[in-house]
Amino acid sequence: MIPGMEAARVAVVGAGPSGIFAARALCIRDPDVLVHVYDRLPTPFGLLRYGVAPDHTSMKGIQAALARVFEEPRVSFIGHVELGSDLTRADLLATYDAVVYAAGASEDRQLRVPGEDLAGSRSARDLVAWYSGHPDAEPQSLSGVTTAVTVGVGNVAVDVARILLRTPEELAPTDMPQAVLDELAGSRITDVWIVGRRGPQHASFTTVELRELLTLPGIQPIVHDGAFDGIDEATLDRRTRANVAALREAAAASAPDARARLHLLFWHRPLRIEGDDRVRRLVLERTTIDDDGEVVPTGAERVIDCELVLRAIGYRGQPIPGVPFDDRRGIIPNVAGRVKNGQGVAQPGEYVVGWIKRGPIGVIGTNKSDAAETIANLLADLQAAPRSVVRDLPEELWRRRGLRPTTFADWERISLAEEARGIEEGRDRSKIAAWSELLDIARTGQGGGPPTPGDGP
Ligand code: NAP
Repeated sequence: MIPGMEAARVAVVGAGPSGIFAARALCIRDPDVLVHVYDRLPTPFGLLRYGVAPDHTSMKGIQAALARVFEEPRVSFIGHVELGSDLTRADLLATYDAVVYAAGASEDRQLRVPGEDLAGSRSARDLVAWYSGHPDAEPQSLSGVTTAVTVGVGNVAVDVARILLRTPEELAPTDMPQAVLDELAGSRITDVWIVGRRGPQHASFTTVELRELLTLPGIQPIVHDGAFDGIDEATLDRRTRANVAALREAAAASAPDARARLHLLFWHRPLRIEGDDRVRRLVLERTTIDDDGEVVPTGAERVIDCELVLRAIGYRGQPIPGVPFDDRRGIIPNVAGRVKNGQGVAQPGEYVVGWIKRGPIGVIGTNKSDAAETIANLLADLQAAPRSVVRDLPEELWRRRGLRPTTFADWERISLAEEARGIEEGRDRSKIAAWSELLDIARTGQGGGPPTPGDGP
C-alpha cells in the first residue's frame, strides 16, 4: 500500500476457478488489497461446481483448496449479483480501483446443420448443467433414447459419454440431484457414439480421460473403420501418441457380455439431423484433409439411427454490456490480461482472466499462471498511477441498486444443507438445484421445500 492512501479495492467478476485464482494472486502479491469476488449465482466455484463431472470426485478436492482464499478477511464473495443487469460496468469502475473480468465462456457453439432444432438435439452443456445441478438447467429426459451421439472429440464429449454409460450403482455415490440420478437410472441407452470430424491424431481429449472411458467395465468399445488411416506415429507428440495407442488397444479389446457399446467414429462430420417430432437419425459425411489442412467432404454419407444428438464442439464467451468484445474469437480483447479499449489500446483499470481472456482451452490449473500474468500487470498499473479519486463504497452501491448479495457464509449454509440431504439419501452430498431453495437457505438457513416448476432467480 502507498503511505497515506487507502488499500486498493478490486472487483473480480466471476467466482469460478479463474476468478478465485485471480483473488488469490492479488492477496499473495499485495498484503493490503481488498477483493470482492462477484458471481451471478448465489454459490461460488463456477465450472468447478457446475462443469467438473460428478464422478470425478478427486477434482472436487480442488474446491476445498480454492475456498481457502475466502478465509482471508480481505476477500469477500458477493453472490447473486449480475454485471449487466444488477450492476453496470460504470458502477464497478466508480467503486473499485480495478475490475477483473473472469466471466468464463458460457455460450454454446452451434453445428449450423439442418435439423439442429429438433427435440433430442441439444448442447452437451445442457446435459452437463443438468447433471451438475445448475439452477438454470432444464430437466433432461432420456425417455425413448437407446442410441446417443456426441459430436466433437474433446473432454466434454468424453465426460458426457461416460456419464451416459455408467451404471446406477456407479453414479449413486455422486452429488447429482436425486431427480437426475433417477432419470439416469431409468435410461435404456445401449449405444453411445463419439464422432470426430478429423482423426484421432487431431482429437483434443486427454489420455487419462480417454482411457477411463475406453475401459469402463461392461462396455464394449468399437473403433470404426478408417480411424487410423494416414497416421504416422513418429510425427505425433506425446499426448497424441498416447491417445492413438489407447484407441488401438480399445479396437482390439473384447468385453464379453457387455451391457452397452461405445462407438468411436473419426473422419465424419454432421450433414443434417433428421426426424419427425424428435431426432431419429444423424446423417454424416466422410471427410478428409486437403493440402491446406482444411477438413473437406469426400461425398460418402453414413447414417446413425439415434434419438439424442449432443453437440460437444466447444464453448464461447458472451459479451458483457459496455465491455469491449472480440466477436470472432468470443473473448475480451486484451494484451497479457489488460483489456484493450475501443481503439485497440490496452489501458489500466480493466483486466481479464480465464476463458474470457484466452478462449475455452486448458484445464483448471491453466488458470493459475494465466491469473498470475494478469494480476502482475494490474498491480504494476496501480503502482504506476497512485489513486487519488475517492471511490463510492460498494455497500452504498448495492443499497442504491436494491441488491442483497449472498456471502461466503451463505454458501457454507447451502453446503451444509447439501451434506445433510446427502446423508438422508445415503451419500456424502446431494446438490440443491432450485433457485428458490438456494436463496431460502442463503437468507434464512432453512430449505425452501420442494422446487416449483419454472423456478427462477
Ligand atoms: P474442445 O476440447 O475444444 O473440443 C471440441 C471438439 O469439437 C473438437 O474435437 C473439434 O474438432 C470439434 N468441433 C468443433 N466444431 C465442430 C463442428 N462444427 N463440427 C464437428 N466437430 C466440431 O472443447 P470441449 O470438449 O468443449 O472442452 C472445452 C475445454 O474444457 C477444454 O479445454 C477441455 O480440456 C476442458 N475440459 C476438461 C475436462 C477434464 O479435464 N476432465 C473435462 C471437460 C472439459 P476440431 O479439432 O476439428 O475443431
